[in-house]
Amino acid sequence: MRIQIKSKKPDSDEQVLTNIWKKQEPRIDLLKKFPILDKFVKSRYFQNLLILPSLIVFYMILIAGFFGTPVGNKNIAIVFTWILWWFLLIAILVPFASRIWCAMCPLPFFGELAQRLTFFRVREGKTGPLKNKMFGLNRKWPRFLKNIWVQNISFLALCTFSAVLVTRPFVTAMVLGSMIILGILFALVYRLRVFCSYICPVSGFLSLYSMTSTLEVRSRSTDECKKCKSKSCITGNEKGYGCPWFIYMGKHERNNYCGLCMECVKSCPNDNIALNLRPFASETKIKSFDEAWKGFIMLGLAMAYSIILLGTNGQIKDWANALETGMWTGFLKYSGILWSSSLLLLPAVFLGFSFLSKLISGNKEVSVKEVFLNYSYVIVPLGLLSWIAFSLPLIFVNGSYIISVISDPMGWGWDLFGTAGFHWQPLLPEYLVYIQIILLTTGLYFAMTRAKTISERLFNTRKQAIRSLIPISLFSLIVCFAFLRFFVG
Ligand code: SF4
Ligand code: SF4
Ligand code: SF4
Repeated sequence: MRIQIKSKKPDSDEQVLTNIWKKQEPRIDLLKKFPILDKFVKSRYFQNLLILPSLIVFYMILIAGFFGTPVGNKNIAIVFTWILWWFLLIAILVPFASRIWCAMCPLPFFGELAQRLTFFRVREGKTGPLKNKMFGLNRKWPRFLKNIWVQNISFLALCTFSAVLVTRPFVTAMVLGSMIILGILFALVYRLRVFCSYICPVSGFLSLYSMTSTLEVRSRSTDECKKCKSKSCITGNEKGYGCPWFIYMGKHERNNYCGLCMECVKSCPNDNIALNLRPFASETKIKSFDEAWKGFIMLGLAMAYSIILLGTNGQIKDWANALETGMWTGFLKYSGILWSSSLLLLPAVFLGFSFLSKLISGNKEVSVKEVFLNYSYVIVPLGLLSWIAFSLPLIFVNGSYIISVISDPMGWGWDLFGTAGFHWQPLLPEYLVYIQIILLTTGLYFAMTRAKTISERLFNTRKQAIRSLIPISLFSLIVCFAFLRFFVG
């Protein structure tokens, strides 16, 4: 049902909100539709079966990183991590399966194992509010750190050194190895998946972009949750562990912090958990500034990488690659530009557009802060589709390295499957730019249509809502054209 906002007589806030809540996006409950899937996710083998293949590949990556050839495009550590995994993650898993990567990620595996001391069993018992026996110190994470600022900064820091990270197998292995050790240490000291929720640098953008995903885990009926005495989805019971991300399903309405582990499906005694298929970009609520800044950081990085890797300015490339060029003063300038444009410049520009939006709307009750925070959602679809467009050449141009490296993962001259001699050849290079244009305009479409939904939530009347959209649409258009310029030239 479409929202009806009358232009002559202003609706009350309550009426507009009622209209919005009536607008129920369609959902398909996959667990009801496919009983075999329901059975699979309720099995205690579910997550371990997902993790096992990625754990094997992860160990190959570590071994290849530490002992294999230092030539990036001949080493599985670089080719699998920064070409295959990155592309699958950003272009397929996140948009279509939310944070399913977090269900199969090997990094928190040993930490979680240390907390549970079992692969498959569920331990009953009592650990703080949980009804599962958990090992380790189980400390609470400090309240002031319950946000994604640490993830924002650590991600930006990692990306500053990306020229080294994505070309040197040893550095990639060091970073991944350190993350697994940190995952264990945090799991031994703090309760549940604190490392994933608040530390992991990858988690921040997974959290933000999973809002667009076509998959969600939700309670089938929040009324059932209100009546439910056990709240086993968060506390756990003999059938499943309490949510490792500490989510209470009765109030769960955003994908951001759900790792799709499916423990709640097992532990809910009322069979009240759905795995829903839903339209793309259904969630439109950015709740805090740390989330909004994550969006700006991602957008800033996508722009910076597009300029560095696709542009013709060789000097910036040399600055970014200071380890090889020795241009450390240039590297400091490059880092300064990267950090200030992501953390200050882009948010400041968006603040200007938000200020204009409020001014033009003519609404006196909505603050600039609300306009900024709510409309900052537009950089989620814009950013995600820009990243997909940016990452496309990785697989189209460098994808053939995957075929050769499968046969010779360490670069030691093996030929396990007879493909080691496969020559580099780009895939459909003549169509690449057209696909990128389609992706960018799709991002723009979702940014603008979702901005409309947000305007209806934010403003009382159709007139105010439409006026407020003008500066935000202009901002989205400018971002889209900037990326078009980077990609198309
Ligand atoms: S948050 Fe990070 S470490 Fe945790 S499961 Fe997801 S990707 Fe892996
Ligand atoms: S255990 Fe099930 S019914 Fe109870 S609160 Fe959680 S999801 Fe709702
Ligand atoms: S909400 Fe359910 S699926 Fe999501 S992380 Fe918590 S227990 Fe896992």
